[in-house]
Amino acid sequence: SKYDAIPILYLSAESDIEKQLDAVGLGGDDFLTKPVPKEVLISTVRNRCRRHRGLRDQMIRDGLTGLFDHNHILEVLSNELNQAKTNDQPFCFAMIDLDRFKSVNDIYGHSMGDRVIRALALYMRQRFRITDTVGRYGGEEFALVLPNTNAENALKLLEEVRRGFEQLVHQDGQHQIRVTFSCGIAQLQADDDGSTLSQRADQALYKAKDAGRNRVEVAR
Ligand code: GH3
Ligand code: MG
Ligand code: MG
Repeated sequence: SKYDAIPILYLSAESDIEKQLDAVGLGGDDFLTKPVPKEVLISTVRNRCRRHRGLRDQMIRDGLTGLFDHNHILEVLSNELNQAKTNDQPFCFAMIDLDRFKSVNDIYGHSMGDRVIRALALYMRQRFRITDTVGRYGGEEFALVLPNTNAENALKLLEEVRRGFEQLVHQDGQHQIRVTFSCGIAQLQADDDGSTLSQRADQALYKAKDAGRNRVEVAR
């Protein structure tokens, strides 16, 4: 349920260790026996929360890039999309896919491929606003949630990122290469949900691929 991830602390006068263990066995995370000094209570709660946030952070992030993973980016999409509808604000979702990436791996090796994926992740994190969310959607695919952004502004932004990224030189010990990406953008319409919106972004991405790659397309 919604509360599954919340740490539970028991605070009671119970001093019987068996009963305390029962309580923890029922799903409690920790047990404090009264009387508890205020400072101990506060620091215990604080430590629990910090540890918990750290774990949650690891659970929703992709190991290679540190970006949000597929499930979490969809969760962000759904939340932000509802927010945009409520506030009647423009909203865009974009999908990015590295071009001819299989041949990057085939020719230069998987570690060069990984290097390129990390470079794009880092580059995007630097280029977007704090309110924008970047995720690793799949292997060499990324997704972007852009609140308060219309298609025109999203296009400008992604064109800038596209032009910046194609200049980057990726190098391992032996080779220096450049890589490009294609991107599809869809702006939220009144009857969209997360899945129709991401479908249109995906169709726009495929249009960009068909049209020759290294380009950004907006869904009609
Ligand atoms: P297109 O321009 O049509 O997107 O061509 P593509 O070669 O990029 O597309 P395709 O889907 O055929 O291949 C994607 C490749 O991405 C295949 C896979 O080896 C590579 N890939 C996916 N995830 C990773 C990863 O984590 N690391 C590395 N190095 N490569 C990955
Ligand atoms: Mg792909
Ligand atoms: Mg690709």
